Amino acid sequence: MPQLLEGKTALILGVANRWSLAYAIAQSFQREGARILLTYQGERLKKSVEDLGASLGAARVFDCDVTKDDDLERLSRELEAEERLDAVVHSIAFASAEDLSRPFVETSRDGYLLAHNISAYSLVAVARACAPRMAAKETPGGAIMTLTYLGSERVMPNYNVMGAAKASLEACVRYLAGDLGPNNIRVNAISAGPVKTAAARGVKDFSKMLEAVEARSPMRRNVTPAEVGDTAVFLASDLGRGVTGDVLFVDAGYHITAM
Ligand code: NAP
Repeated sequence: MPQLLEGKTALILGVANRWSLAYAIAQSFQREGARILLTYQGERLKKSVEDLGASLGAARVFDCDVTKDDDLERLSRELEAEERLDAVVHSIAFASAEDLSRPFVETSRDGYLLAHNISAYSLVAVARACAPRMAAKETPGGAIMTLTYLGSERVMPNYNVMGAAKASLEACVRYLAGDLGPNNIRVNAISAGPVKTAAARGVKDFSKMLEAVEARSPMRRNVTPAEVGDTAVFLASDLGRGVTGDVLFVDAGYHITAM
């Protein structure tokens, strides 16, 4: 059977460990024949991401803290050495534990800015660093995608400042899609149902979110990381060529429910 991403190169930001959604996406991309490039955030994580990269057959691993303009400029330069760039996966978010645990109305200015800087603005910065490489190919184009959550549009207990950051992220997806569409670069978000990861552990009572999805989603179950990974393959592949500026839910249908 032909592989859906054969001949394509994909940069994946946000692999921290084997439970990361970015890792599941990388596994799906590997299965479909993509050349994989990974990033890590600072020296502390270099070795572990390099080891994970080896297990994924990653071709290159770059240092990139998305809060640092110098890192993004270096990433952009390093990508120039790539023959092509076809897909970028932004799977990055952060908010301080304090701002996730206290009432939203108590969110600090610094905590609000930090969450929005890392979880929303970074998509704009990453797109700016990567789009030139996608546009410079013989046939310009590519797919940029990010990970979001239903807390952007509904009030989820303990999601707080991250809900506001995800709303901003989804608006960034639409504006980037508007800017980059003429170069055949598509920008989308995958809204994943809750999955136990390091980032998810920062949300108080996270297991209650899993229980709610299992009890009330149309499919009466939670989603698997592999289901998120396979949706990312669709978006990165030519099958997704007509889709941009959108939020695709991979949540067993939970977002359509009211009671
Ligand atoms: P994760 O494994 O903890 O991934 C979060 C990633 O963000 C980590 O690799 C982390 O790196 C990275 N990161 C944080 N600050 C960074 C910075 N300044 N520069 C570069 N990287 C940075 O958790 P995950 O659940 O897979 O999260 C991935 C994405 O999926 C996030 O956007 C999250 O909001 C979204 N999402 C998750 C769920 C869920 O239930 N798990 C549901 C919907 C959406 P370090 O570990 O090095 O800090």
